[in-house]
Formats: sequence, C-alpha cells, structure tokens
Amino acid sequence: MEIESFGVRDEQFLATPVWDYGGILVGNEFVGVGRRGKFLVVDLRLYSLKLVFHFGMTGGLSYNKTGEPEEKHVRVVFRFVNGYELRVIDQRRFGKLYLVEDMVQVKTIRNMGGEPLEMDEKNFLEICDKHPRRAAKSFLMDQSIIAGIGNIYSDEILFQAGARPYRKIGELTDAEKRRLFQKMREVLEKMVRAEANFDGFKDFLLLYRERGAKCPRCGGALETLKIANRTSYYCLRCQG
Ligand SMILES: [Zn+2]
Repeated sequence: MEIESFGVRDEQFLATPVWDYGGILVGNEFVGVGRRGKFLVVDLRLYSLKLVFHFGMTGGLSYNKTGEPEEKHVRVVFRFVNGYELRVIDQRRFGKLYLVEDMVQVKTIRNMGGEPLEMDEKNFLEICDKHPRRAAKSFLMDQSIIAGIGNIYSDEILFQAGARPYRKIGELTDAEKRRLFQKMREVLEKMVRAEANFDGFKDFLLLYRERGAKCPRCGGALETLKIANRTSYYCLRCQG
C-alpha cells in the first residue's frame, strides 16, 4: 500500500536524521516485513532502503482509519492511500526508527553512543575514564559518547550536578562523577515524563536561558560561555 504522507510527532524518534524520511517515504511502499531480534525490519519498494523499528519496553504499533483520535505518545504516523494509518507509539521514548541500507548500520549506530537511560553508574564511570581531558559539557553532548543529550539538557544536568561546564572530566572527583550520572538520569527522566509541561521545574535552569537572567537557586547573575560552539549557561556560585 502506497504511503501518502509521513507525519513526525517527535523528531528524536528518527535515528538517522541524515535521511529525508518524508521525501523517501511518501510514494513508497512496504514490501516485506520481518523480525530480527528486537527489531522489526520493513523493506521499502523504492531506493533500496529499509525501515527498522526498535521498540522500547513500552512501544508498539496501532493501525487506524485516518481521522480517528490519536493515542498519547505517538512518535510517527504513516498515512496510506487507502484511508488508513499506522501509528508508532512509544511511551518512554526508548524506541527509534532507522532508515538504512543494511542492518549492519543499525548496529553501528547503536554502538556509537550509550543510551543515557540504559547505562548504569559503572558504565558511566568507565566512559568517564576514557575521556579525562574533555570538558564536562562537550563530554555530555558528544553523540559518540552518550547519545541524545543536546545543549539545553547538558547545561541543566551540569547545573543540577553543581559542576561548571568547562571542568575536565578527569578533574572531577569520584563523588562528582557519580553525582553527574545521577543528575543526568534525573533530568532526562523528568523531561521524558514532563512532555513539555514545565510545572515543577522552578529550580531548573532551562526556563531562564536568556541574557541577564538570574540563577533560579541563588539569584546571582548567570554566566555564559561558548563550548563546542554552543552557548552554555551556568552559575558561578551554585556550580563549582
Ligand atoms: Zn546560583
């Protein structure tokens, strides 16, 4: 059945953003479906590409007539020319949708950076040991080290952990590294649950990212600094 449109509700769900998913999928067709371990692999008729679905623990598919009310936590929607649509649901955002030529690429991409919510403290400390000279901010944002943390979340994690963004990973004490790990989990889990509802984020930095802003904890002026080409916000008093 030909795909008439492809809707993205959550950009993060697309694992290989280098591809123009919409451009490749519209007018294309699913021609073969198979399962490979925890992946659902769909061959596309055009472009010699495969769609590979990786579901988190709370993910799944639903097939509906177009126009029926959408469930919560829908990440992408394939609308077909027959008036039906396939929705991919992923409650906790562990799932991914890959567009690849080959399953090998999926493995490579997944091995690149650890999923921050799937690693334990021991993994995290091991990764820290491998990158002692990296600034904490660029360490958190490097997709080949930890996947999925961007500019705003990395600032938030460092603010909550009380570490300045330019501190070298190798210069953090063990207690500071453990705190960084703990806050990384807390911040990301809180974000995943919040779904853009920011009540309960009063002491979070992310609501105060603008010039001249004051620290939500101590009221001091926030500092800014460019690291890895992105502007970091931090508080000199609350972050050591
Ligand atoms: Zn402060």
